[in-house]
Amino acid sequence: MNKVVAILCPSILAAATIGLTRCKEASESPAVSAGRLGHENIPAGLAGQFSGDRAFSHVEDILEFGPRPPASEGMAKTLAYLEETLAGFGWETTRQGFKAATPDGPVEFSNLLARHASAPDEPASLPWVVGGHIDSKILPEPFLGANDGGSSTGILLEMARVLSSDPSAASKVELVFFDGEEAFRPGITPTDGLYGSKYFAHALARRSSWPAAGVVLDIVGDPDHDLLFNPEAPEPFASTVLTCAERQTFAKPFRVSPFPIIDDHVPLQNSGIPCLHVIGEFGKMNYWHTPGDTLDKVDAGMLEKVGRMTLDFLAEAPPAGDP
Ligand SMILES: [Zn+2]
Repeated sequence: MNKVVAILCPSILAAATIGLTRCKEASESPAVSAGRLGHENIPAGLAGQFSGDRAFSHVEDILEFGPRPPASEGMAKTLAYLEETLAGFGWETTRQGFKAATPDGPVEFSNLLARHASAPDEPASLPWVVGGHIDSKILPEPFLGANDGGSSTGILLEMARVLSSDPSAASKVELVFFDGEEAFRPGITPTDGLYGSKYFAHALARRSSWPAAGVVLDIVGDPDHDLLFNPEAPEPFASTVLTCAERQTFAKPFRVSPFPIIDDHVPLQNSGIPCLHVIGEFGKMNYWHTPGDTLDKVDAGMLEKVGRMTLDFLAEAPPAGDP
């Protein structure tokens, strides 16, 4: 399998090091389960409000800022856009800034965390974290990452609008826009990539409450490729999302990945947060991590299906059990 994996994707190749990553994360992370309560679902029936056209419009706006690697002008404009858009839907945002060592030296990163104004300041529990990465990969040529980084960001913003229509729903979700998912070198390794999600997971130690469960989306805007979910997802999550996906009638299969994929859900999982991770089959996208990842690779209808599936999942997922 390793040989096939190596051909498909450097990030999957890095899965061979997952054991090492787990050990490293486990030694750095707090005993999260001490403060983690079971997740509470959002109310059912919100999915129909999710508009793929609105989500697409956000992707279009973000691509106008140009490439958005960490600490770039494009990233600064993206963060400002997210803050303004989220504020318009009643969400309060916090920049989670940090500096980390990269193969190119120290770099300043900034995650963006969002809670709805209706959420209590000191919640007894914070049921769901829903995240995706906002950065675009550094390539020699201009790289916009319309599908890789853009698609999930558009979905999260439209989810923010839908959730804000029901304070009891919005209070059960923390939205997290991760910086630095992409590696500075070709593939994600234990020391390169996932900078934002690793920092987010590490910083949970300083919080009084943290998410009970998580959903991470990435590269989800292309209807011409299969959608995969993580094989390490708890069984209740897997069976629920398969049911939710059936309602959306994806053109291509929605199925469990045959191998682990290293992405922003891994640091969360390593901190004891059970996660659903959904990602397009990027290894078969001939434009993946090339300048060809442009707006035409993202489909409003696909964004709508993924957004609606995710909202249904947040409403229906049963307890994950012990991580
Ligand atoms: Zn990428």
